Amino acid sequence: MIAGVIVDVPAMGTDKTFDYRIPEHLEEVISIGMRVVVPFGPRKLTGFVIALKDTSEHNRLKKIEDIVDPSPILNCELIELGKWIAENTLCFLHSAYQSMLPAAMKMNYSKKILLTDQADLSGIPEVFHPGLLSEDGLTWDEVLKHEKADVRKIQQALSDGELEVQYEIRSKGKKKKHKVIHIDLSSEALALSLEAMKKKAPKQADVLKYVLDHGEEEIPTLKLMEETGASRATVKSLIDKGLFKETEEEVYRDPYKDREFKHTEPLPLTEEQQQAITPILDDIENRQHETFLIHGVTGSGKTEIYLQSIEKVIQQGKDAIMLVPEISLTPQMVHRFKGRFGSEVAVLHSGLSVGEKYDEWRKIQRKEAKVVVGARSAIFAPFENIGIIIIDEEHESSYKQEENPRYHARNIAIERGKFHQCPVVLGSATPTLESYARAQKGVYTLCTLHERVNQRELPSAEVVDMREELRSGNRSLFSTSLFERLKDRLEKGEQSVLLLNRRGYSTFVNCRDCGFVAQCPHCDISLTYHKRSNVLKCHYCGHEAPHPSHCPECSSEHIRFFGTGTQKVEEELNRLLPEASVIRMDVDTTSRKGMHEKLLNTFAEQKADILLGTQMIAKGLDFPNVTLVGVLAADSMLHLPDFRSAERTFQLLTQVGGRAGRHILSGEVVIQTYTPEHYSIQLAQQHDFLTFYNKEMQMRKLHQYPPFYFLALITISHEELMYVVDICEKVAARLQESLSSNAIILGPVASPIPRVKDRYRYQCVIKYKNEPNLKEILNEILVHYQKRMQQDQLTISVDMHPQTIL
Ligand code: ADP
Ligand code: ZN
Ligand code: ZN
Repeated sequence: MIAGVIVDVPAMGTDKTFDYRIPEHLEEVISIGMRVVVPFGPRKLTGFVIALKDTSEHNRLKKIEDIVDPSPILNCELIELGKWIAENTLCFLHSAYQSMLPAAMKMNYSKKILLTDQADLSGIPEVFHPGLLSEDGLTWDEVLKHEKADVRKIQQALSDGELEVQYEIRSKGKKKKHKVIHIDLSSEALALSLEAMKKKAPKQADVLKYVLDHGEEEIPTLKLMEETGASRATVKSLIDKGLFKETEEEVYRDPYKDREFKHTEPLPLTEEQQQAITPILDDIENRQHETFLIHGVTGSGKTEIYLQSIEKVIQQGKDAIMLVPEISLTPQMVHRFKGRFGSEVAVLHSGLSVGEKYDEWRKIQRKEAKVVVGARSAIFAPFENIGIIIIDEEHESSYKQEENPRYHARNIAIERGKFHQCPVVLGSATPTLESYARAQKGVYTLCTLHERVNQRELPSAEVVDMREELRSGNRSLFSTSLFERLKDRLEKGEQSVLLLNRRGYSTFVNCRDCGFVAQCPHCDISLTYHKRSNVLKCHYCGHEAPHPSHCPECSSEHIRFFGTGTQKVEEELNRLLPEASVIRMDVDTTSRKGMHEKLLNTFAEQKADILLGTQMIAKGLDFPNVTLVGVLAADSMLHLPDFRSAERTFQLLTQVGGRAGRHILSGEVVIQTYTPEHYSIQLAQQHDFLTFYNKEMQMRKLHQYPPFYFLALITISHEELMYVVDICEKVAARLQESLSSNAIILGPVASPIPRVKDRYRYQCVIKYKNEPNLKEILNEILVHYQKRMQQDQLTISVDMHPQTIL
């Protein structure tokens, strides 16, 4: 027997399957999707088994030394999907597989195999029987060394859920199991025993009395000991006497465990919702793959459609993947899913600890969860019978992973949807141009929800020209209109949301006399001022510098921070509206775990008047008492030289407008801008997606951007500038001669941030329509420079379909 293994060497030449002989004692054990330890040159490496076969073209094969996981951690579908990812994003197969696993499994944590509660001891190898060896389970090594170990049996028990693998995460080495006492006897029987013990065993009698008084049938052992002051020995005696039974129960590190979820029932659908959901339900029924695009204004009931589609999937005994952007994955959102489906929902997002994420992942693998709600990487949930994949807010750029493998969750969803023959549903109030164009061409099926469920009007929006404000002498950050409205809300006891788009905002320190701007010495980018610690920081490499007291160029003292960050807005609010209580949400106030949620809760409980924040507050929030939304500088990202900047501006303004007046109170939106005439601002004000779409499509066509052209971005970096330029020129020339004359190659040019961490960066952009050989050519280029990348610190990265070329 021979296994094809993808080894853990992130290099071009090794990114293929290597054949290894399976030693006899592992023959029955090894299966596809397991990780194994193999000799590789002088080293020992881990790798994924992705094929089993009888023969190999090579002779003198080396032997697999050991197994890492006792059971497969990737199923066959995911193995194939990994190949697709490697091919289409030009990444290493090994990194494709790694990206599918929770962090806990990627690291070399020690693993232990444990008995579970469901274990029926008769079928389980003796090594695991309680009392024989360690109570906390055995490491795989210990199991293998034990003479009675029967690997086949262990695997069977693992797949039956009688044994389980736990990855010990050292920093989070908290107890995850606890002992629970069960009292099965009637209270009469207990009372009798109590009488009998009073004299001879007063301590045990006390414990019995406590149990009788409290009528408990089940109580954690520790709690019982704490409440009664009893020792472990006392409790043990009661167990030995058969009065109590004790079991070990797993405590999942469920971050939502302490919360109650009120069960919700499906709502009767509106006619529009009914029309949208019918073809989706039909596909679920008929096991048919199709991609839907639900274009529905905020509050049009998209989420209810998702919920009812998932319900149907669960009824069919299948599983559902629900993707939500990281920042929308609020407790409110989780509530809606847990409220409908209870504990069948696993939640995966980056706010969870490594251990918590692993626990949630394991619920999926053990088939305890039927639904996963999560951010991007939840698309790899190891379900085996997927009935629907939903991507909410499909336009969000966070669905694209900006490091290797550079995949887009939408494409993965469609690949998996094809495999499982199930519908894929994309939803948004502001779909991407790419998706909407596909829907118009009939590649996706379009469903439009025109109205809000409760017939509530979309909030009216006012666009304020900040140049006019300046002309009339208002130098404040707030226009007269916005300020008046803020005051009005304060008087009425209603709440307001203020959005400051951080991107493109100046948070740098400069000299008023000579214009000097403090820059990072390692990266060509200005340093960001942090008020709390009064230091300057580089967001790319972490470099820190003290705030200068004098300008290093001209020695002027007029050097300081003049930007308009959220802190500055907060200060101004405190000055102008001292009676208002303000919550500020930005990267600084939410960096500690749980703070994001805490601040939002405070606002939801109406303990503050104004919520001020960056993009992170634009989405998913649903506060009934919010009647005013102000956007402080709508055009702050409009002028970024990025082909998506108009689209992003339109999306943000539309989304943020949707935050106001979702309930009984009607809402108002004030948009402050220096370019009120720009179509993305005008059309967002009018909630007119279609006109925006048509207009922006013309622009994209004119400038040869997606969806009319595909893009590929090649970035080359090295410490020596001339070396980078030279290689970039050669790469561009190579592309020029190999691609068709329809392809457009831009570059080489310096990257938008030309130096990061002392490395120079140059790029080439390829615009193309149909280049069947492109991936092959790019691969050849990578192979060609492989040696230099390994030995010479050269990096060449390829991003197929970049979100931005900025
Ligand atoms: P979206 O996801 O499009 O923003 P939601 O699904 O969140 O919209 O719906 C907005 C509000 O309307 C929610 O409070 C939701 O509970 C409610 N809602 C949705 N569908 C219905 C319905 N058919 N009948 C009554 N209320 C509904
Ligand atoms: Zn100066
Ligand atoms: Zn830097």
